[in-house]
Amino acid sequence: MKFSWKAFPLHHQILAGLVLGAIFGALFNVSKYELEIRYAVDGKEESVVVPQWEKLVFAKADTVVIETFGAEDQLRIIQSFRRLSKEDKARLSVLVTPAGTAESTRPQKFENVRGIEKVKTVAVIIKPVGTIFIRLLMFIAIPLVLSSLIVGAASLGDIRRVGKLGGKTLALYLLTTTSAITIGLLMVNLIQPGMRLSPEVLEKLKLEFQPDIQSAIPPINLIDMIVNIVATNPINALASGEMLQIVFFALMIGVSLTMVAEVKAAPVIRFFDGLSETMIKMVGMIMTTAPYGVFALIAATVGEFGFDILETLVWYAATLVLGLILHVAGFLGMLAKLYSGIPIRKLFRGLREVMLVGFTTSSSGATLPVNMKACENNLGVPKKITSFVLPLGATINMDGTAMYQAVAAVFIAQVYQMDLGLAEQLSILLTAVLASIGTAPVPGVGIVMLIIVLRSVNVPEEGIALILGVDRLLDMCRTVANVVGDATVATMIAKSEGVLENKA
Ligand code: ASP
Repeated sequence: MKFSWKAFPLHHQILAGLVLGAIFGALFNVSKYELEIRYAVDGKEESVVVPQWEKLVFAKADTVVIETFGAEDQLRIIQSFRRLSKEDKARLSVLVTPAGTAESTRPQKFENVRGIEKVKTVAVIIKPVGTIFIRLLMFIAIPLVLSSLIVGAASLGDIRRVGKLGGKTLALYLLTTTSAITIGLLMVNLIQPGMRLSPEVLEKLKLEFQPDIQSAIPPINLIDMIVNIVATNPINALASGEMLQIVFFALMIGVSLTMVAEVKAAPVIRFFDGLSETMIKMVGMIMTTAPYGVFALIAATVGEFGFDILETLVWYAATLVLGLILHVAGFLGMLAKLYSGIPIRKLFRGLREVMLVGFTTSSSGATLPVNMKACENNLGVPKKITSFVLPLGATINMDGTAMYQAVAAVFIAQVYQMDLGLAEQLSILLTAVLASIGTAPVPGVGIVMLIIVLRSVNVPEEGIALILGVDRLLDMCRTVANVVGDATVATMIAKSEGVLENKA
């Protein structure tokens, strides 16, 4: 019998890609010690791999020491090099005393250094395959959100129905987000992960990631955020992928279409309907490459970050993951069962691919097309509902992100030994709802918006440095909760409108 990989259902293939990718990444782990130094000799670029060193020094004009590093400082070396100005780089000499040699031995000297990096392994080199997969999904997201929301809003008939359905959807989104935050706050107060880190670990974490965040924090202001929902130029919003602006624009067009004469409105609606249909077709094609994309993404993540960083922050990560599981399998599962009449097993079976894609891409936006397809085909939510509820949800409903922001804020406060009372925790709840709404559905934005939450209770923003290392991994987990939350609400809305089909 001939073996064919294609004989397995797609979600098994994706799962296999995930597991094999993790193993592959663990096997070809990027070393925590090796450094690749690229430098120029007579205008020609050369490179050398330094496996280990006793001491490494950045010096200016050969003699003035800028910074000295020890054997464990791989990350600090890379970051310090990046932060040097162009002029400093030009005058820099890197003096390396290889491991095992006496202090008195003359160090190796490198000049005209062009770059200092970790040594890439094959697990990291294949990452572009995964990046292409994410980009394929992302490029569908914006035309899909625009077209399906326009058609979704227009097909509801009149503004009162849009208002009614919109109100119901918003209320349910608020309910799931608030529940997620509450569960997160309960967990983090019970487990108190911030009290469990040793002072040495804390010191190391602060040192390693400190420089990274300074550049990552944009100025954030809540009022501006609300004002910003209205684009001054919707075409710009589309071009730069401003999700909230796009949602607002699409809803306004959809609603206005219901007020225009039928002869004029019909072709416009038909056009956007065709566009959204085409985008969904594209997903089917793109998803056949998912196992390879997923393999590459996971291999690169595990290869680059390993599991070590998780070890140090294991209490924090475990608190959040436990909270997410409780919310997704407990609360959302219960809503689906009690309200929509969908058994928990069926819900998760129907959303298998959605969860896998959410996990690996860390992007609700990229997962949206897969989610729409799964809700329609597996859970019996008609297109009329998915096309309105899901694009809206992908943008504003982020249960996982909201919970994460609350847990992270309290965790950081615990580390800094700040006592947060009930009033502060309520303030966290409120700002986490807003911050999660403002979080763009792409990887890694949750941590930037976390700043709003930290500011609301005066927890030091530098605390973000502590959790930056594990963020990639937790981003994957919280995105799963984000997309399952959207799907669950879609089934509830369909049920309440009496249009939920019973798919076996
Ligand atoms: N990656 C998340 C999402 O797209 C957002 C975040 O929490 O960073 O749903």
